[in-house]
Amino acid sequence: FSARIQLVRSEDEFVLLANSINQLAYSLDQVESNRRVFLANVAHELRTPLSYMIGYMEGMEEGVIDKKKGLTVLTQEANRLNRLVTDLLDLAQLEGDGDTLDRHPLVFAELIREAVDTVLIRADEKCIPIQLDLDEASIVVADRDRMKQVFINVLTNAIAYSDCGHAITITLTVEDGRAKVVVKDSGFGIPEKDVAKVTERFFRVKRGRSRTDGGTGLGLSIVQEIIAKHNGTFQLDSIENEGTTIVLTLAEYDE
Ligand code: ADP
Repeated sequence: FSARIQLVRSEDEFVLLANSINQLAYSLDQVESNRRVFLANVAHELRTPLSYMIGYMEGMEEGVIDKKKGLTVLTQEANRLNRLVTDLLDLAQLEGDGDTLDRHPLVFAELIREAVDTVLIRADEKCIPIQLDLDEASIVVADRDRMKQVFINVLTNAIAYSDCGHAITITLTVEDGRAKVVVKDSGFGIPEKDVAKVTERFFRVKRGRSRTDGGTGLGLSIVQEIIAKHNGTFQLDSIENEGTTIVLTLAEYDE
């Protein structure tokens, strides 16, 4: 009797083992297929500006495209390639196993103001006011450059996807030992069906005007990676034609 029980148990174990192996094989397949999709996306994103550049260069050579106009497009597309490669390198570095963050305690409000200063020219160009309400006492442990990049990316989006006059507000509060930053814009917002996808690599909401906004579709993927490396949380909510709200939290520095 006891042998039978043992047999049943070991059969169960075989079934469990077989299931685990199947699951592992499935996960490996998924990883491989994700890798292939990513590579195809990278190739596609790199090829688009390159084919514009080739087209314009040929047109200039044949004299059918005005040199000045051609050079403007060439510069634009070369800049786009540059942004793509920089973003891809950032992602690759952030996804690596090693911890490359240079962490220091810092006054969070100061860092946020520095990021705002960086994007202010663009906000002014589009007459988008940025209102700040920051708790000066908040101190977090973070990689200054990386965390600044988070706010530059988020604010660049808030500006790019808003029309003139639509204000952006940034608030920083401390709640239950965590710093909480809310960046709220009153811009185009994101259709409900797309909200969950915006942090996927290369995903961009189809608006027809996206390409001219100059984004790469990698900005929020980078934000998510940086926040994860800081053990923080990231949340995006959006209502189409009303605006987008991003909430980030990080642990407060505990001496
Ligand atoms: P991109 O470089 O295209 O801005 P992101 O990864 O930063 O790439 O964002 C992905 C997409 O999410 C954007 O192309 C845009 O469609 C949408 N998006 C991001 N932030 C906002 C925002 N604040 N308002 C409206 N749409 C946004």
